[in-house]
Amino acid sequence: MSQLMITQVGTMNLSFDPQTLHFTVVSQEKTWRWDPQYQPKLVTAQGEIPFAAARSVTHHFWKTGIGEGIRSCYAGFTQDGRDIGLAFETVAWIEYISRDLHMEFIPICEDGVDVTRICWPGNMLISGGGMASYSLLPMRQGVLLPNDWPTAMKKLDFDGMMCTTAAYMPWFGQVENGAGYIAIVEQPWDAAYAVDHPAGGPTRIHMSWLPSLGKMAYRRTMRYTFLGKCDYNDLAKVYRGYVKETGLFTTLAEKAARNPRVDKLIGSAIVHTGIKTHIDPTTRWYDHEHPERNNVVVPFSQRAREMVKLKDAGIDKLYLHLDGWGEPGYDNQHPDYLPACTEAGGWDGMKELSDTMQSLGYMFGIHDQYRDYYFNAKTFDPDFAMRKVDGTIYDINLWAGGRQSYLCATQAAYYVKRNFTELFRHGIHLEATYLDVFNCNEGDECIHPWHRMTRQESFALRKRCFDLLCSWGIVPSSEEVGDWAMQTQVFAHYGPYDGMMNGPDKPDYGIDVPLYNLVYHDCMIVPWFLDARAPHGVDVLLYALLNGGAAYVNNELSGAELDRAVARYKTVAQLQERIAKCEMVRHSFLDGDPSRQRAEYSDGTVVTIDTKDNTYEITYPAP
Ligand SMILES: [Zn+2]
Repeated sequence: MSQLMITQVGTMNLSFDPQTLHFTVVSQEKTWRWDPQYQPKLVTAQGEIPFAAARSVTHHFWKTGIGEGIRSCYAGFTQDGRDIGLAFETVAWIEYISRDLHMEFIPICEDGVDVTRICWPGNMLISGGGMASYSLLPMRQGVLLPNDWPTAMKKLDFDGMMCTTAAYMPWFGQVENGAGYIAIVEQPWDAAYAVDHPAGGPTRIHMSWLPSLGKMAYRRTMRYTFLGKCDYNDLAKVYRGYVKETGLFTTLAEKAARNPRVDKLIGSAIVHTGIKTHIDPTTRWYDHEHPERNNVVVPFSQRAREMVKLKDAGIDKLYLHLDGWGEPGYDNQHPDYLPACTEAGGWDGMKELSDTMQSLGYMFGIHDQYRDYYFNAKTFDPDFAMRKVDGTIYDINLWAGGRQSYLCATQAAYYVKRNFTELFRHGIHLEATYLDVFNCNEGDECIHPWHRMTRQESFALRKRCFDLLCSWGIVPSSEEVGDWAMQTQVFAHYGPYDGMMNGPDKPDYGIDVPLYNLVYHDCMIVPWFLDARAPHGVDVLLYALLNGGAAYVNNELSGAELDRAVARYKTVAQLQERIAKCEMVRHSFLDGDPSRQRAEYSDGTVVTIDTKDNTYEITYPAP
């Protein structure tokens, strides 16, 4: 068969070329073509297998009660002249009601291969550049990458895996001369993307599906929505509608109805400090020239005095995120972290800090960790470490505590319950808390027969730890803000622009845009480090205001410096108190100038910033 196969639904047209195995979509008079260089393929341990290598290929029109399209069946893959058994299908179909295009990959038989990536569907190729033709990437808050951007794209964090910092939300999109599409990844836990953008462009966004426990295992689906006249705001709002459909979308108002302490947190100054540092000599963090710096303890009582100082400085609402409060010290011996650090005052000292927090009306929270699993933890047992598909467990040395593996997430909630029960027994009053790395790092899988687990299950099990905290009235937070945890997670350590994380001497890999906040501003509290150095000398206060977020205050300041920090925090908090539960309706660059940005909120508040002059303007709606 060599003729194009064409499906028409209304004005939308899907065509398939049996020669190239490429699809073309015409929607609202705009044609979207796959990149001519793209070749559909599987990457396997046995080598790359192009779809075109199938000896048996059939294409059929597909029509059901809900839509129509094209089904393709691939089989007859051979090795040394022998059929290895591998077979799979694809279905691309247009939904009658929504006119969404669904692209499905369906494994039929996996014999003869160990798949490592399914490279399908193909990438579009757009032309033009500037603010007219660009790609939207879900890296942290979001990046708008003009198609002709002069800088080549970096390698993505976590190899571009969805549900990590590389993709707070599992979608990407492209806009070409005013028309656009959004591609939503519907099984994000086993998916990754890569951005190929040489200096000057063009941009290619490669999608790949990852095996689950070593297998293609199940049907993978992408949902494409094509819009006529649109920009990045419209595409973000398509996703906002999608997560309302799936139930992921959960507002701060809903979370506050479950736990009123959410309201107490809104407008609070965020303080992040610690008690005990202990650096294992085997780690890269160990300071051989100043060995005394590897063991530092600050008494709980000192932190309590600092809290009183901050109250005296005029901070009424505050959340304390306390690191290193356990005897082993920061990032050591998890999950066997108890008791409270003895040298800092032990349980009595920690309770005194907790009591001080309560008397000040402040919220106390601890830094805790249920993924890193240290070999020198008292109850470490390799049988409960996550077991990789190759049968081994992780044995790495990354953080202050030295050699570690990863705890299987099936075990995490039990350890949370064990440790927090002990904290409560010692009178520690926690109103919010922090579980490290759960939201930031990729999903985990485990083949140990006692506790097999897929990546999708690992996310559900992490969420269960957040839910457990909620059941005790504790407001849960984690490192970053990936949306898989949206139903339960309330706030994060941070949720920055990707450009803020690249380091001062790195180029811009695109233009930062708050895609995440356009979808989720009214669902998540994101704090900003007002003292941090943002690229190009931008005052982070501006980003905190534009994004209607929360603000950190440094507990070690005093005198005029502290007064200045408190004043800056209050500027951010006053706005946050008003708009935390409002949707960010629209973001724009004034006159197309990336340094002049505006965010409009659903209550009518408008925040305008100028990152060249480091000035801002806030206009509130008339009462
Ligand atoms: Zn396991």
